[in-house]
Amino acid sequence: LFVVFEGGEGAGKSTQLAALAERLRGQGRDVVVTREPGATAVGERIRALVLETEGAEAPSPRAEALLYAADRAHHVATVVRPALVRGAVVISDRYVDSSLAYQGAGRTLPAEEVSWLSSWATGGLKPDLVVLLDVDPRTGLSRVESRSQGTDRLEAESIAFHERVRYAFLDLAAADPKRYLVLDAARPAEEIAEAVARRVREFLAD
Ligand code: C5P
Repeated sequence: LFVVFEGGEGAGKSTQLAALAERLRGQGRDVVVTREPGATAVGERIRALVLETEGAEAPSPRAEALLYAADRAHHVATVVRPALVRGAVVISDRYVDSSLAYQGAGRTLPAEEVSWLSSWATGGLKPDLVVLLDVDPRTGLSRVESRSQGTDRLEAESIAFHERVRYAFLDLAAADPKRYLVLDAARPAEEIAEAVARRVREFLAD
């Protein structure tokens, strides 16, 4: 089972991901928690390249899309697929939808090109379930402001950028409702965790 958490800045993905992993491990399941970008040694270097360069030094939109795709290709080949093959539950913090939302809608690269690039990178591997934690960008950004690292980079993007990202996620979910669970990130964390657990249980029941 391959579960992905998606959402904008400050949606609470890490909290929910950890809660689901803990619950499934408590049931004795083999769980692999991972993330994009940066789950591997190669990925960590790519993460630093895209997230720690700013202004004129930052990669161009196409270069950025290729770097995320490279991170994803390596991540799928060395972490996600091997874990799925041995029967583990893989829970990833971000996946293809983040590229469609950030590089596609955010940086205004054509969606079909980002989609094509992503399926080439992953060999077509799709998640069984995407949990979208939907958050208003203003709320989300104010939640992450308290974090020390990387806020300059986030503030460099306009609210309009983050709104395009948000609506791209929501459009993806609306186009494929069976694969998505959309939850309001403003709800109490325990309620969100319960809703996620209920949906995941349906997959593990059969
Ligand atoms: O989820 P996390 O906070 O680790 O993501 C790091 C940053 O990477 C996010 O702020 C997001 O803006 C950016 N990102 C991106 N495109 C992706 C994945 C992440 O712009 N495909």
